Amino acid sequence: MNYNMSSLQYISQHLQHQKGTGNYRTLKNVRQQGKWVWQEDVRMLNLSSNDYLGLASDSELQAAFFRSTDLETARLSASSSRLLCGNFSSHEKLEQQLATLFGAESALLFNSGYHANIGILPAICDKQTIILADKLVHASIIDGIRLSNATSVRFRHNDYEHLENLIKKYAEQCQRIVVVTESVFSMDGDLADLPLLAALKHRYPNVLLYVDEAHAVGVRGENGLGVAEETNTLGEIDFLVGTFGKAVASMGAYVICKNEIRDYLINTMRSFIFSTALPPFLCDWTTFVLKNLPAQNAKRQHLQMISARMKEIVEKTGIACPSQSNIVPFVVGCSKKAVEIAEELQQHGFYALAVRPPTVPEGSARIRFSLTANMDFSDVERLEAVLFDIIKKYPIG
Ligand code: PLP
Repeated sequence: MNYNMSSLQYISQHLQHQKGTGNYRTLKNVRQQGKWVWQEDVRMLNLSSNDYLGLASDSELQAAFFRSTDLETARLSASSSRLLCGNFSSHEKLEQQLATLFGAESALLFNSGYHANIGILPAICDKQTIILADKLVHASIIDGIRLSNATSVRFRHNDYEHLENLIKKYAEQCQRIVVVTESVFSMDGDLADLPLLAALKHRYPNVLLYVDEAHAVGVRGENGLGVAEETNTLGEIDFLVGTFGKAVASMGAYVICKNEIRDYLINTMRSFIFSTALPPFLCDWTTFVLKNLPAQNAKRQHLQMISARMKEIVEKTGIACPSQSNIVPFVVGCSKKAVEIAEELQQHGFYALAVRPPTVPEGSARIRFSLTANMDFSDVERLEAVLFDIIKKYPIG
């Protein structure tokens, strides 16, 4: 290829800048095995996985699925979008299962949480819409907002007084307000107050509630349906989004909504219309895992207990930890220090990674400890000892 070198200089400059600020990213060659991850011949405890219940590495569960499936006829590609010839009974069965589980009118599948968030918001928002989104929402939601025609304002993280002031300010000026939040925040591991948001929605007639439960599905609630189930707010949320790539051990995403909204999305949502549908075989696997979700309560409880212990450990270092879930951040501030600490942790057998801007706000680089149910207390205690040794070398604050 004959690239004009000077026109590509900005790329090398950008990469140099990333390296200089400790924000350069590379792909790691790692192999996952249960709660472990292998890098070449080194085994580390995997603190970076979203396999929160350990189901993606549960070979017995996988074998049971294979036994229950006719592998000869398994369809590994949908070969088209749902609106052409890619609508299989596997998709419809999974959507029906979701609607039944959530006690809702309907559900619609997407290829990923990213597809869901970049597609739903532009579809449902127009120039007469205001989106009010929590300051810490995920990049996929931010991209969805950017692709929409709506005006958007971010409210301070979990600050519902700020949110209500914004609602009051815009309620008269626009046709609808879409309030967007995550239920478990992906980088801080804290929770939105869904009952409070539901009550707020009831006070203003033109407010719709959009909640992303990517990190809560499987992990929270009596049947693993998320924080909305846990807080009895399932019926209050207009767009209840969840993903399968984390605790559900699969791939894809869904929205739980009313029939009419589903029909509207099928007609208008670009990332749904213009993309090949999920492989039917994968939908069958998701259906199988979802059937097993209610039976995972012991794992959910264990995960909560080891996560609470991990939060205690972080707080013992003197650093505030907002976590209310199995995502436990250790905020060190500067990216370079976060990378150095992550490397030290890896040298001591803990595969924890630095999360840096732009994934998190400037000055809040961190180690994101992601705990999974197949870890035990002794893993967390070993980590405590190592973490305290490391921070003697790299004082924080
Ligand atoms: N929503 C949130 C809150 C996330 O944290 C993520 C991914 O980490 C996504 C959506 C994207 O989901 P997916 O990985 O299925 O694209």
